[in-house]
Amino acid sequence: MALIVQKYGGTSVANPERIRNVARRVARYKAMGHQIVVVVSAMSGETNRLIALAKEIMPEPDPRELDVMISTGEQVTIGLTALALMELGIKAKSYTGAQVKILTNDAFTKARILDIDDHNIKQDLNDGYVVVVAGFQGADEFGNITTLGRGGSDTTGVALAAALKAEECQIYTDVDGVYTTDPRVVPEARRLDKITFEEMLELASQGSKVLQIRSVEFAGKYKVKLRVLSSFEDEGDGTLITFEDDKDSDMEEPIISGIAFNRDEAKITVLGVPDTPGIAYQILGPIAEANIDVDMIIQNTGADGATDFTFTVHKNEMNKALSILRDKVQSFIKAREIIGDDKIAKVAVVGVGMRSHVGIASQMFRMLAEEGINIQMISTSEIKIAVVVEEKYMELAVRVLHKAFELEGD
Ligand code: ADP
Ligand code: ASP
Ligand code: MG
Repeated sequence: MALIVQKYGGTSVANPERIRNVARRVARYKAMGHQIVVVVSAMSGETNRLIALAKEIMPEPDPRELDVMISTGEQVTIGLTALALMELGIKAKSYTGAQVKILTNDAFTKARILDIDDHNIKQDLNDGYVVVVAGFQGADEFGNITTLGRGGSDTTGVALAAALKAEECQIYTDVDGVYTTDPRVVPEARRLDKITFEEMLELASQGSKVLQIRSVEFAGKYKVKLRVLSSFEDEGDGTLITFEDDKDSDMEEPIISGIAFNRDEAKITVLGVPDTPGIAYQILGPIAEANIDVDMIIQNTGADGATDFTFTVHKNEMNKALSILRDKVQSFIKAREIIGDDKIAKVAVVGVGMRSHVGIASQMFRMLAEEGINIQMISTSEIKIAVVVEEKYMELAVRVLHKAFELEGD
């Protein structure tokens, strides 16, 4: 008997029939003698619908109220899933994040989990219940409802698996595992049986939405056995996220394991600022204070005592970042111009094999050059090379690189 956490995404609970299907799978695992905690997302499209509704009332919705509202999507599916289990004669009980006591900080719309009270869940499991928990949400120390950022149900699943010391966390979705790139963009993409945790972390941080980055961080920190599988198929082992120490040592590592991309970032360029100590802090300090995450950063070599400074933020936060710079920072830095550009996309190739191979970056840049794609920004790590390009070239860049690095299936 094992304790297993199963997380089902939006398309897997999109309608009553699919919810019944989820219940049938849970029933099968229960019949094998396992204890099951189910985490569900909102029905597909529901979170988007709720956000749009809020924006009709207030174009930039107050984050606390937005969270009160968008957390309801998951509340509907936990109730429905518990009902579907009961209809199969299985004892089931649902909990919202706040009911479990998933404690988060108060960063509304992108809160972080601080602690999980596992008392009720353990009690219910011991009493023979399947426990159904709403993904994507928690509550801060004052009981305010918070949400964990888009895709946050993955993180609820993994965090619960860590807290409950589950045997495995299974992420059920609409694809049968992690692929070399998004199979919707490159149909030739190949499913990976295994991927290292480090590579998955890079892919997720570079935009592969199959797992929310924080879920991968949790899995790494608490060594949660994590598997991505299809909720539409009864067979198949999906993709296992492995750790370096349990890898086959004689297995040859591919140089590139996958390609990630995202259109979610925007670029802010601050032109003609003084090339003096402290300038980066003057620009990015107030951005950090406003709780805006910055991804890539470039500062050019100065000429004539002036320099240009470029960084990327989430598209949703570009306007906020621009107004901070224009209203609060400009009077100190006296930039020649501050420009926002949200027509960009990021493409990244990821692979642990890069550590032992040189020339991958130049190969990547040559492929892009041959297609006439201009690279606007570059950032690298030991196992990743990421570039920012004009948004309209993103899919072309992904397809070209996928082919050039021979990632296609047979
Ligand atoms: P869920 O609603 O189940 O959480 P998501 O839409 O969040 O599902 O994530 C699954 C989707 O992630 C897939 O349908 C696929 O389009 C996309 N995706 C992006 N990159 C990859 C990848 N490397 N492997 C598999 N799927 C990917
Ligand atoms: N329903 C939330 C979203 O659409 C959380 C999730 O699906 O993981 O982002
Ligand atoms: Mg998701």
